[in-house]
Amino acid sequence: MGCLCFPHLPERLSVLEKLAYNLWWTWNPIGRELWRALDLAAYRATNHNPVKMLSLASPEGLERAARDPEFLRLLDRVAAEFDRYLSASPHPALAGRADETHPIVYFSAEFGIHASLPTYAGGLGILAGDTLKEASDQGLPLVGLGLIYSHGYVAQRLRPDGWQEEAHETLNPGDCPLAAAMDEQGQPLLISVPGFDPPVYVEVWKAQVGRVPLYLLSTEVEKNAPWDRTISQRLYTSDLEQRLRQEIVLGIGGMRALAALGLEPRVVHLNEGHPAFAALEGLRRELARGQSWEQALEKVRGRTVFTTHTPLLAGTDVFPFPLVERYLGRYCEEGGIDRRKLFQLGTDPRHPEAGFNMTVFALRMSKFCNAVSHKHAEVARRMWAGVAVDHKEADIHPITNGVHLPTWIEPLRVQALFDRYLGKVWRERPEDPAVWEAVDQIPDEELWQVHQERKVALFAEIVARARRRWQGGQADPGLILASGVLLDPRHLTLGFARRFTAYKRPTLLLYDLDRLERVLNHPLFPVQIVFAGKAHPADHEGKRLLQEVVRVARDPRFAGRIAFVEGYDEHLAKYLVAGVDVWVNTPQPPLEASGTSGIKASVNGVPHLSVLDGWWPEGYSGDNGWAVGPREASENRTPLDAESLYTLLEDTIVPMYYERGPDGVPHRFVQVMKRAIKTVAPRFSARRMLRNYTELFYLPALP
Ligand SMILES: *Cc1c(COP(=O)(O)O)cnc(C)c1O
Repeated sequence: MGCLCFPHLPERLSVLEKLAYNLWWTWNPIGRELWRALDLAAYRATNHNPVKMLSLASPEGLERAARDPEFLRLLDRVAAEFDRYLSASPHPALAGRADETHPIVYFSAEFGIHASLPTYAGGLGILAGDTLKEASDQGLPLVGLGLIYSHGYVAQRLRPDGWQEEAHETLNPGDCPLAAAMDEQGQPLLISVPGFDPPVYVEVWKAQVGRVPLYLLSTEVEKNAPWDRTISQRLYTSDLEQRLRQEIVLGIGGMRALAALGLEPRVVHLNEGHPAFAALEGLRRELARGQSWEQALEKVRGRTVFTTHTPLLAGTDVFPFPLVERYLGRYCEEGGIDRRKLFQLGTDPRHPEAGFNMTVFALRMSKFCNAVSHKHAEVARRMWAGVAVDHKEADIHPITNGVHLPTWIEPLRVQALFDRYLGKVWRERPEDPAVWEAVDQIPDEELWQVHQERKVALFAEIVARARRRWQGGQADPGLILASGVLLDPRHLTLGFARRFTAYKRPTLLLYDLDRLERVLNHPLFPVQIVFAGKAHPADHEGKRLLQEVVRVARDPRFAGRIAFVEGYDEHLAKYLVAGVDVWVNTPQPPLEASGTSGIKASVNGVPHLSVLDGWWPEGYSGDNGWAVGPREASENRTPLDAESLYTLLEDTIVPMYYERGPDGVPHRFVQVMKRAIKTVAPRFSARRMLRNYTELFYLPALP
């Protein structure tokens, strides 16, 4: 692997190639500083993509940098820090039991690491990306495995009437921090995936996430028939057959790719049900070694970890048996797998006719199962009761999601503030609550000042986006006004950014427009709302809800105080979670398994205003944010939740925000900000999450 991709790179700058092809820089401030220093305009023009920057850079510009002593000093510092990072000692607890060639393999249909590698749709992918970064930081011998989608990334464009249209962007691996995996002859590695006739071939690409490699498979191979080439074209295609084919490529093809790379998984972690066929391939291998069915099953189960993410039955892939038969019939026959037994493993006893259920199959193939919050674990145990092979109740642990703090705490100002008042220990021991006690040492004025700057930065980003759209000539003036150009950084600003889908109730804030108007247009204490988020291309209801938000945002009676910002992605999320004042979350309980955006906001000092669902029943302490609606689930709770939301705003949050000391600082509001940071950062970090996975699952699963 590795190639000299930038022949015009001066010798003195050659280390830039290594740095560009490792995503380490994305979560290390000094790494970002380097690319900005090299060429800020190019950094922005390429959407923060160093690989593109280097391939487009002029030889003169690079020569100039190679002679600039200040740039060279920075370059040497970054290179030294990067080397130190790569050579840090591996995770001590796993020594001798797992290593680079006998790794823990983390399978996921999506990975969201950085905007320059668009292989994700939303929360599941961001969580997978945070997991890889954290595994790298901890020196865990972990490897990621996923798919690369040639047209998977959905760019959002609104019509003037607010209806979402999608452009499927083409991903060119050459523009991404990706290198082709090579075989022993130095040719691009090509794997054939069983189950297809004629065979389907996949190429293997590798992204380097600090110390953790991420392998991504693609079926865009010339040798493949046209329909087969499109298997890895779209993420979460609604074509059921194509989806099954995708999951065969991910699970079975993924295991084959690992073998071709000389990797022997010690633990297989299935992130959601999509990659569960990896366990089937494991079963086939054990049988091929002469094990009995029971022995093989026991072996595979003993090393498989499964994380379920959705309490929505509709969010589970279920494939008709004849379809599975068509693709996997011969594979089973040749592998000595009894098809009846296999189908039984994927059958939900309550809906035996429905087909092959990937979650049921994953639960039964995994000795180690978890849900992503305490509340979700209770829900999931009930939901899957009677499904696990040898348990009456599915044995599902709670491991609550956490976020990778160096990625999600705003790096320029907020991280600097923590470095100053907490010391570097917050980076080394973020899971220690004592470390975060020092948040109280930050003077209110200083935290407030930093937060105001983040807000100004968010609004500037919103205006820059609107300007580009306006200048591009395709935007309707009403849509531009509704995109946030009239927002005022002095006013209390709520943020709501997430996937537009019915259970997240994105229009709950709009439940009573007259009351909302009085809150927003208060003559002295105005309030603004920033919305962002995409609907799945096939989610008609989600698109309708989005259109409703845009319609209200365009309505002059709200005076431009409601904004809808197009193109929610990892990049915009970073501005939003640090730049609004309050983060709003209104799912229909118990359907939000965890939710992580509220964690990202809280650790930046942006308190959470949320229904008690997902992570929030664990996170809410009474003084670190606000709980919307009744604690217990109730049937038609939408009117109650809306009432609670408005009342909290009118009686508590707005007065607290506008109550200023002589210094202009809202001290009571800043107390809530501080409590949010102190209580959420230690308990909902990816550090703590991955420690849980290691102690509860990886270590017991290792031979
Ligand atoms: C964090 C994040 C999500 C997930 O947030 P939820 O709270 O689970 O909705 C989705 N998309 C992006 C871009 C994110 O950064």
